[in-house]
Amino acid sequence: MLNCSSPLKMTSRLLWVAFKLAALTLSVTLSLQPEQQKVLLVSFDGFRWDYLYRVPTPHFHYVMKSGVHVKQVTNIFITKTYPNHYTLVTGLFAENHGIVANDMFDPILNKSFSLEDMNIYDSEFWEDAIPIWITNQRAGRASGAAMWPGSDVKIHESFPTHYMLYNESVSFEDRVAKIIEWFTAKEPIHLGLLYWEDPDDMGHRLGPDSPLMGPVISDIDNKLGYLIQRLKEAKLWDTLNLIITSDHGMTQCSEEKVIELDQYLDKDHYILIDQSPVAAILPKEGKFDEVYEALAHAHPNLTVYKKEEIPERWHYKYNNRIQPIIAVADEGWSILQNKSADFMLGNHGYDNALAEMHPIFLAHGPAFRKNFTKAAMNSTDLYPLLCHLLGIPALPHNGSLSSVQDLLSSPATRPAPHTPRLHGGVRPGEHEQEEPYAYFIGVSLGSILVVVFLIVFVKHLIPSQIPTLPDMQAEIAQPLLQA
Ligand SMILES: [Zn+2]
Repeated sequence: MLNCSSPLKMTSRLLWVAFKLAALTLSVTLSLQPEQQKVLLVSFDGFRWDYLYRVPTPHFHYVMKSGVHVKQVTNIFITKTYPNHYTLVTGLFAENHGIVANDMFDPILNKSFSLEDMNIYDSEFWEDAIPIWITNQRAGRASGAAMWPGSDVKIHESFPTHYMLYNESVSFEDRVAKIIEWFTAKEPIHLGLLYWEDPDDMGHRLGPDSPLMGPVISDIDNKLGYLIQRLKEAKLWDTLNLIITSDHGMTQCSEEKVIELDQYLDKDHYILIDQSPVAAILPKEGKFDEVYEALAHAHPNLTVYKKEEIPERWHYKYNNRIQPIIAVADEGWSILQNKSADFMLGNHGYDNALAEMHPIFLAHGPAFRKNFTKAAMNSTDLYPLLCHLLGIPALPHNGSLSSVQDLLSSPATRPAPHTPRLHGGVRPGEHEQEEPYAYFIGVSLGSILVVVFLIVFVKHLIPSQIPTLPDMQAEIAQPLLQA
């Protein structure tokens, strides 16, 4: 019951109620159009940005024409699969999300992680960050992941709502079938993640310069065509926001460009945690100086860093899993223990400033502009974009929604007051975003309500100069309480 002792106090109460109503209107407005908040994120592993122009890729070009295309994505160092896929779903640099390589050793946990042996299921390696499928589920929505790296690992006690255990022999068509099933279920997912191993696999084997890569790229284009066809059949094509990207590119290697560690280092003095093209070296106790000195000027195409000297631009320093010494090969050079180790004609992992390390980015859907091309973006910017599309709050990250909002059919950002500190500088004002049009409508409706209440109040206040004021207040109070 409103109990106003003065007209001024009552006015402020009315304003307060009006603003509460405005806030309610805003929250209702924000939850509109759930169909258009659906997102499917697809990664074709190792799809270098310029593969699009190597052979005809009509399906990729169809998406570009009816959606947006970012020519090159600057990914994160090191330009390897697991670090970059975790960045796509967290917006964090490797030093912040903790998946610093495909092969790692954590001296605090005293545990190893290795993609090679699929020894990747230890939750503790993943829990420096919270991937977007968990945040989506915490917001009350369902997520579905078809073989996305890390999506079958229990992270912070959670799995995606639906997921597939990783098995590279499951066909692309079967993965797509699961995605469609989840998006069209009675309780549909809002976030889908789809992963495919090529053109990375063939890029390693053939080398990206091989003419045999043409058919490999054509095959990926056909797979995209298949996905589009299935989305259209399921009536998802016009409502879903589809994003097609990748983790890294690929560069041509050569057996003439090999750096053999055994030529410079005593094998008993160190442990090689990760290999080419960024050798992660853990010297044995008391051997740091010896190992460093032996390697520092060993080869003109090898740059050796003590951990604390790693360039800031790589955002690759502040994590226990980054080893005391890293040795980085120049583009196209391979680091091997010796010539008996496996050599690959194509590789990635090099400096993320190199164009050949950069992957593709295309998107299509109700949230995106049509036939719009942009020169470049950072892969860390995808995470706040995904959060915006899903209408969920973004956790602290290293990206920037405002850097990619020109891809959207209606602009997005609204600054948030505070972002906690992370290494590499989380962009301020990028923590949370709301729909600007929804915000505008909510505020407008709220303002109209305020004006209406003021008119009602003033109209009744004038007769209230005569002694019936308490009755008048009761009349006004009644409908407000019901509201
Ligand atoms: Zn990869």
